[in-house]
Amino acid sequence: MKLLVVATALGPLGSGRGGGVELTLAGLVAGLLQRGHRMTVLAAGGSQLPGDCAAAELWSCAGVPQPSVQHQGRKALITMPADALLARFWRRVLAEAPAAGFDAVLNLGYDWLPFWLTPTTALPLFHLVSMGSVNAAMDAVIAEVAAWDQRRLAFHTAAQAADFALPHPPLLVGNGFDLSAYQFKAEPEALLGWVGRVAPEKGLEDAAAAAARCGLPLAVWGLVEDEAYAAAVQASVPADTLQWRGFLPTAQLQAELGWCRALLNTPKWNEAYGNVVVEAMACGVPVLAYRRGGPAELVQPGVNGWLVEPDDVTALAEAVEQVERIDRSACRHWVERHASREVLAARIEAWLEQGLQP
Ligand code: UDP
Repeated sequence: MKLLVVATALGPLGSGRGGGVELTLAGLVAGLLQRGHRMTVLAAGGSQLPGDCAAAELWSCAGVPQPSVQHQGRKALITMPADALLARFWRRVLAEAPAAGFDAVLNLGYDWLPFWLTPTTALPLFHLVSMGSVNAAMDAVIAEVAAWDQRRLAFHTAAQAADFALPHPPLLVGNGFDLSAYQFKAEPEALLGWVGRVAPEKGLEDAAAAAARCGLPLAVWGLVEDEAYAAAVQASVPADTLQWRGFLPTAQLQAELGWCRALLNTPKWNEAYGNVVVEAMACGVPVLAYRRGGPAELVQPGVNGWLVEPDDVTALAEAVEQVERIDRSACRHWVERHASREVLAARIEAWLEQGLQP
């Protein structure tokens, strides 16, 4: 197939502003290239595709990034800045995609406009929905597409898809990672880890509190989206608890992450998937997570980590004591079986082929 993948309008690929979607896109494009498909990626100017996506054509657009829907509230109106990158993306898709002869256009952005366009255009638009429910207008437009032709929608996990009004059982594709990019580390140090955008929905404060109770340092990797929130978390625990490591490219992130005894994953929202959960496991790091959202479907208790009741910091700290019972190589094996790039690309291909049938 000849496929156009439309990236998030939150910022350039490689900046971290697009959260997990940036890595999802890289894995998906590289995996589909490997399967012989011809790939084009439309992304914000300044985007960088990893080396194994080099065979993909990159279309870029300048424009003002979209504000992230999840930080605007459930009742927020749909907004469009002047010179909006999102508007330019979709103007370009409508103008150029028909003549370019794409078999399908795959949108990875969680924005109202491309969903709304879907039933109105002859272009075959598909959407890999990247978040659960965060906004009423988004819920409505996703439900409209589902009612029109649900084959155009795929989700990462059942917990995520359950947020939406869908006439049929959801198509679940999980996610996929280039496992050669993650090195297995058998022997950890006395260190806990946390990875994610530093923003309230990610619940860093709970991981910090659990680490403080265990008397272990917590290394924090990720883009600080909310400085005031980061400062409040820092102030909530003894000064030597948190080690701020910044936002690192995958190669460096995995090299540091592998030293952790466990990853604490403590989202307060219905996390659609949780890339960082799988990335940690790929390095052999067991994951201690709340039984909520996507991570609750990824963590197999006793195999690749432990699940505790949501928001129970005491239980999280107790789970740290149980982490020695997890075999670190079993964490890596779970990812190899369930979340490789090859597995994702095959699922995406099957989804598109099925959705393109009359
Ligand atoms: N990430 C990264 N470097 C860092 C910290 C995080 O590249 O230092 C990436 C990580 O690889 C993951 C993404 O940030 O792909 C976070 O995705 P996740 O699905 O966990 O959450 P989201 O941000 O999409 O809500």
